[in-house]
Amino acid sequence: MSDDPETARQIEELAADDRPLLVLDVDDVVLEFIRPFPHFLKSRGFGLTLASFRLTGNIAETASGRLVEQPEVTALLGEFFDAQADWQSITDGAAEALAALGDRAEIVMLTAMPHKHRAVRRAHLDALGLPYPLLTTEMAKGPAVAKLRGKKGRPVAFVDDQPSNLLSVQNSVADAHLFHLMADNSLRAFLPPAPDDIVVLQDWPEAAPKIAAALGF
Ligand SMILES: [Mg+2]
Repeated sequence: MSDDPETARQIEELAADDRPLLVLDVDDVVLEFIRPFPHFLKSRGFGLTLASFRLTGNIAETASGRLVEQPEVTALLGEFFDAQADWQSITDGAAEALAALGDRAEIVMLTAMPHKHRAVRRAHLDALGLPYPLLTTEMAKGPAVAKLRGKKGRPVAFVDDQPSNLLSVQNSVADAHLFHLMADNSLRAFLPPAPDDIVVLQDWPEAAPKIAAALGF
């Protein structure tokens, strides 16, 4: 079961599908995030200087140099997601890769963001030509992926840029094929090397055949 009751409700709404399952993160997997976000911050009078793989502690008010605390980071993220259509474009190659996979796999996008932003993101993805179902979760992704898979043990592939999400899915779906894809590979410098059982992908053109093979195509 998904631990997030709203995510569980969203999953219940999906049509039954027995095809192999491909679950995708959105920010920095399907849509650009870490490249446009600093431009948004600049427009609000803030700057991002990444010294680690996190936002809190790395955002400062430009005029004062004041470091922004967690509640204000959350508020800025909320503003960014409300205005995402102005900032977030598709990551290179994602649309083509998903179009190639989409007739053989059930593709579901699972984004860790407050549920209140779901409708804005849905509209933006539709406008970009990405019609795949979108789920939001405010809790760990692993239980949601387990519920999505259903009871028949179909193959599962999961793609995310956040190591903690990959580990969450590994804990809930032990045989899931895990892929670490980052829209901006320079951020890997802030992360420890991926464990051997997580496949590191440099970009979507590399991802497409590897995901296809993992799902048995
Ligand atoms: Mg992400």
